[in-house]
Amino acid sequence: MRSLRFKVYFNAETKEIVGDGIMTGIKYQDVTTKEIKELAVGGAFVEIGTVPNSELVKDLVQLNRSGEMVVDAKTQRASLEGIWAAGDVCDSLYKQNNIAVGDAIKAALDIYFISIGLNNPMVAILHNIRSLYNVGSIFRTADAAGIEKIYLCGITPEPIDKFGRLRPQLTKVSLGAESSVQWERVASTTRLIDRLKKDKYKIIAIEQSERSIHYSKVKTNSLGQRQRCSGQ
Ligand SMILES: Cc1cc2nc3c(=O)[nH]c(=O)nc-3n(C[C@H](O)[C@H](O)[C@H](O)COP(=O)(O)OP(=O)(O)OC[C@H]3O[C@@H](n4cnc5c(N)ncnc54)[C@H](O)[C@@H]3O)c2cc1C
Repeated sequence: MRSLRFKVYFNAETKEIVGDGIMTGIKYQDVTTKEIKELAVGGAFVEIGTVPNSELVKDLVQLNRSGEMVVDAKTQRASLEGIWAAGDVCDSLYKQNNIAVGDAIKAALDIYFISIGLNNPMVAILHNIRSLYNVGSIFRTADAAGIEKIYLCGITPEPIDKFGRLRPQLTKVSLGAESSVQWERVASTTRLIDRLKKDKYKIIAIEQSERSIHYSKVKTNSLGQRQRCSGQ
């Protein structure tokens, strides 16, 4: 601090900006001696806002030790469902106008997508699907449906062969979707499902069976996350 070209006045409470039209000084009180002192300065930078205005929600949502609302940085969702926050009241590292505006846009988009039922990320598990054409077709459909990621399990082939070449039968149907939809080879389908369940995904198995429910009767439009699980 001493090497810098400024001096810090501790225990000083600003009392008055002095000047006639143009600022010439500042009056402050030394809070320990109660003495009023004047400093000749030509400008003042008002630093406010160090205490977050979160009183309103303090009993509803999680606040951090500084009293800022803890939010999910992707969506601006607070800890209680149905509450979003934006700007300086959030637990973000930096406090700036553009950041506050960006937060508000993220929150508005998230609220919009929830209102139309499109907020939930979906992933697909392709377990033991032998046909390259079927896998390519699922990639293409996944791209159109906004599926976040495809997990390839069991004998399901990958878009590339062991020499790193694209498989022509698959890409003939996927039409390039294998490069726009994330995919991952997974060794254990059951461990993957356990992990996704922990992450609050709702698991839906797609299979022909006597106990199957017709797809048009499945209600998936809940607030929880969901996952489509496909098998053959
Ligand atoms: C001195 C100073 C200089 C700054 N300079 C810059 C800069 O140059 N560039 C930059 O990007 N950022 C700057 N910032 C930071 C920037 O101002 C903030 O990051 C930004 O304003 C945060 O926006 P906000 O909407 O979260 O909060 P605010 O802008 O504080 O808006 C919150 C609003 O909510 C109102 N409010 C509070 N409680 C209630 C209630 N219960 N009911 C209804 N209304 C309520 C308040 O009156 C206020 O109008 C500066 C900040 C300060 C203090």
